Amino acid sequence: MTQPVLLADVLFPGGTLEITDLQCGPEQQKVIVLARPAERQAQCPCCHTPSSSLHSHYHRTLTDLPCLGRVVHLQLSVRRFRCREETCPKHIFCERIDDIAPRSARMTQRLITALNDMALEVGASAGWRVGQIWGVERSRTIDLRVMRCMTAIQPPTVVKHV
Ligand SMILES: [Zn+2]
Repeated sequence: MTQPVLLADVLFPGGTLEITDLQCGPEQQKVIVLARPAERQAQCPCCHTPSSSLHSHYHRTLTDLPCLGRVVHLQLSVRRFRCREETCPKHIFCERIDDIAPRSARMTQRLITALNDMALEVGASAGWRVGQIWGVERSRTIDLRVMRCMTAIQPPTVVKHV
């Protein structure tokens, strides 16, 4: 008998997120995945003490890679914890989800990587046209990030043998 496959394991390998709900957006063109980090505690970024003392939470919406022809938005419930270490100057901190998305990003890391790879292969303009199909809103910040990635790769030096 085979084990049932959990959708969270397919969408977010590594067990970092738990899916709490799936919703379809208007006209069924968009899928909204509601999720939260699977860990019950987080480590204070200042003193590295684990905490499970929940302070509050907020929602963060990220565009993810499309699935089955639909734009995918990931709506994450991100928690703030209290640091209980008396000597720590940080009393409240947000849990980090760096493996899912960079801080302040509006896209998942895997979507950013896919767009960067595409921009390098077919050019930034063609890459962004595909990105728009995937539901990515173009912004100056994202353009700069892609350009930085492209300039970081130098063309190979041609050695002339005489
Ligand atoms: Zn702390």
